Amino acid sequence: MSTTPYQRLSLHGHRLAGAGGLRAEVRAFVAEEIAAGRWSPRCDNWLIGWDPAFSERLAARGWAGMTIPAEYGGQEAGALARFVVTEELLAAGAPVAAHWIADRQTAPQLLGFGTEGQKRRFLPEIAAGRTYFALGMSEPDSGSDLASVRTRAERTDGGWRVTGRKIWTSGAHRAHYLTALVRTTLRDEATGRHDGLSQLILDLADPGIEVRPIRLLNGEAHFAEVVIEDVFVPDAMVLGEIGQGWRQINAELAYERSGPERVLSTAPLLLAHLDEIAARGGTADPVGLGLALARLSALRGLTASVAVELTGGHAPDVAAALAKDLGTRFEGDVVDVVRRSSPAGRPEDANSAETERLLRQAVLQQPGFTLRGGTTEILRGVVTRGMGLR
Ligand SMILES: Cc1cc2nc3c(=O)[nH]c(=O)nc-3n(C[C@H](O)[C@H](O)[C@H](O)COP(=O)(O)OP(=O)(O)OC[C@H]3O[C@@H](n4cnc5c(N)ncnc54)[C@H](O)[C@@H]3O)c2cc1C
Repeated sequence: MSTTPYQRLSLHGHRLAGAGGLRAEVRAFVAEEIAAGRWSPRCDNWLIGWDPAFSERLAARGWAGMTIPAEYGGQEAGALARFVVTEELLAAGAPVAAHWIADRQTAPQLLGFGTEGQKRRFLPEIAAGRTYFALGMSEPDSGSDLASVRTRAERTDGGWRVTGRKIWTSGAHRAHYLTALVRTTLRDEATGRHDGLSQLILDLADPGIEVRPIRLLNGEAHFAEVVIEDVFVPDAMVLGEIGQGWRQINAELAYERSGPERVLSTAPLLLAHLDEIAARGGTADPVGLGLALARLSALRGLTASVAVELTGGHAPDVAAALAKDLGTRFEGDVVDVVRRSSPAGRPEDANSAETERLLRQAVLQQPGFTLRGGTTEILRGVVTRGMGLR
């Protein structure tokens, strides 16, 4: 297989470069899928490309729930192997959204805090690419200030009765379960701001839950509002400890913020553009492109190092916040780099139809990059505080 400009980026000699042929295997699989017309590459497809059949095909190769222990149906693979697979899928713009959240953060969360029963019930299904989760953190009046969530769980016989509302919940209209951050002790009764919060697993098929998809300007719906009305959640579906929701969520956010998807949402556009430049023999903006490639190279190293640290049982929240802030701004800047490289009035530098298709699509997705998973301002606060400076 020939070397692409992407492969040539600064990872020579690094274990990440090939991971023992795994990268080539994933690339061949992806090429086969595209050649068979099963899907077309799209920017941001880790959030918008919901394709359960693809998730199951991937799982059949052992590429979903890769780091889950074998006793729970996973491959027990290392963090770098998973990193290589996810990087290749993102670079190809593959439709991985259905299993993405379950694979990225629900599985580690279950392994860290779940009961044996929850692990046996959910992990094999996640590794099979069949069971999908959504994340119920944000509410209409609680986004950045997550500790102010008002969705209330009240104690009842054998479980909890939950009432509240979540918003911007990615994939909630298609997923099976919602991991919801809820208030189990009223705020004025809790001792500290972050006390009294817990995580519950809600079955999205419950008749007490109404999921209202939120449409974007282009008519597509990728996130939803979730209205929860007096829903019974049995004790068996409490994730972790009652009252420890804040601590648990923070462990989870390191997974949510640090992956290569915070760098590579627009990679299909950048890579199509690199191929084009290679074919036409130059760009109108070599300086801009050079800077973008340097940033990409550094960000790959940063996200890979956080992936390794996560497997050591650490929650590298500062490094994860840093990776998300720098990575998501890079993803957005790719749009400008591609635009500047093909200025109006220079037909010799005109983009191909494929690059234009990806560019249009990236422009529509771009506003969400720096918002989802914590805004730029919030991440910078995490970094500053984490360094003991505020
Ligand atoms: C595409 C997309 C997918 C999403 N998916 C999910 C999901 O699956 N699950 C989920 O729970 N949520 C999801 N979200 C919601 C996302 O996490 C929130 O939008 C985000 O945390 C910001 O919250 P907010 O929208 O309430 O904005 P606010 O918190 O109201 O912030 C508004 C503005 O004020 C700034 N600001 C707020 N507080 C401070 C402060 N203390 N200092 C400085 N500036 C501040 C913010 O940076 C921002 O610019 C998604 C969002 C998007 C765009």
